[in-house]
Amino acid sequence: MTPLAPGSTIGILGGGQLGRMLALAAARLGFDVAILDPEPDCPASRVCALHLCAAYDDPEALARLARMSGVVTLEFENVPAGALDILIRLGVPVAPGAHALAVAQDRVEEKSFLNAAGAPTVAFAPADSPEAAARATAELRGRVLIKTRRDGYDGKGQAWASSPEAAAEVFLSLGGRPVIVEAPAPFRRELSVIAARGWSGESAAFPLAENVHRNGILHLSSAPAVVTAGQATEAGRIADRILSGLDYVGVIGIELFELEDGSFLVNEIAPRVHNSGHWTQDGAATDQFEQHIRAVAGWPLGPVAARARVEMENLLGDSVQDWTAIAGEPNARLHLYGKREAREGRKMGHVNRVSPL
Ligand code: AMP
Repeated sequence: MTPLAPGSTIGILGGGQLGRMLALAAARLGFDVAILDPEPDCPASRVCALHLCAAYDDPEALARLARMSGVVTLEFENVPAGALDILIRLGVPVAPGAHALAVAQDRVEEKSFLNAAGAPTVAFAPADSPEAAARATAELRGRVLIKTRRDGYDGKGQAWASSPEAAAEVFLSLGGRPVIVEAPAPFRRELSVIAARGWSGESAAFPLAENVHRNGILHLSSAPAVVTAGQATEAGRIADRILSGLDYVGVIGIELFELEDGSFLVNEIAPRVHNSGHWTQDGAATDQFEQHIRAVAGWPLGPVAARARVEMENLLGDSVQDWTAIAGEPNARLHLYGKREAREGRKMGHVNRVSPL
């Protein structure tokens, strides 16, 4: 694609904190951003050139967005497929594309794709009924993690089961929706790799981050993670297989389990900028938000080397009230999302604590 000139408009589906930080990065490169989000006061609405306040599948709003945008991208994977169809029919480039989203929206499609692409995962089986969940659990022999195929996030929509009978109950407790039954990953650490691919197939992966979750939500990311050269190469290889297998354009987040022998399994992929990539804002030569804008706008990808060590901490709910103390720390960079209400567990901001490499 011909590089989009500064002054053009980039459309973004979704106006949460990721949309907000994408809009800020786009503005720095001279773009205007139009957000489509049904929430009147969403975090991105206060930093973008235009906020179309409408449902994601509203045909009129999508037509307006398509008319004004040189490219349309997104900040969350659960965009209704119909919305993308409308945009594509209107002829505006959309990145990442419908195929990548369809794969990432369904955990069974996702794991099937990953295995076919040569990116290993835990053993798994789909189940559409309590009996099927029990059968899959018997076949996987032992404790299993059962997750809804769609719409799960931050540890929601999933539960462990240690017997076929328990699996049947878990199936019902998750709402009787189609699920994936997963073997446990015997991991010693959780890592992630944030990578990007441009329209002409060039790609680049940031150094790995090591992630700690609390109550299913990312709590800390430390980067660059301490890994062997072989692990760094392997993570890059996995990222390349995924990016080219999806013919992907933009930034992708890839969550990895590190096993006792140092090898990796892929847990899941997020077809967007990712919480575990926030460290790049203060620790890498280009940050993930600018990288995503560069990729979708057809610009050259930026350099991805680490320039500092960063520990990123998410500020959830009331912990955002510590903003004065954090603002007073000499090596802390505070990023707040402008959300009005600090509900429990809600991502209100993050802090990057920076130290020399
Ligand atoms: P997910 O929603 O798939 O990202 O899962 C949320 C968290 O649950 C992960 O970050 C892991 O800590 C844990 N988890 C997910 N899948 C597995 C698995 N198959 N085995 C062990 N832990 C898992």
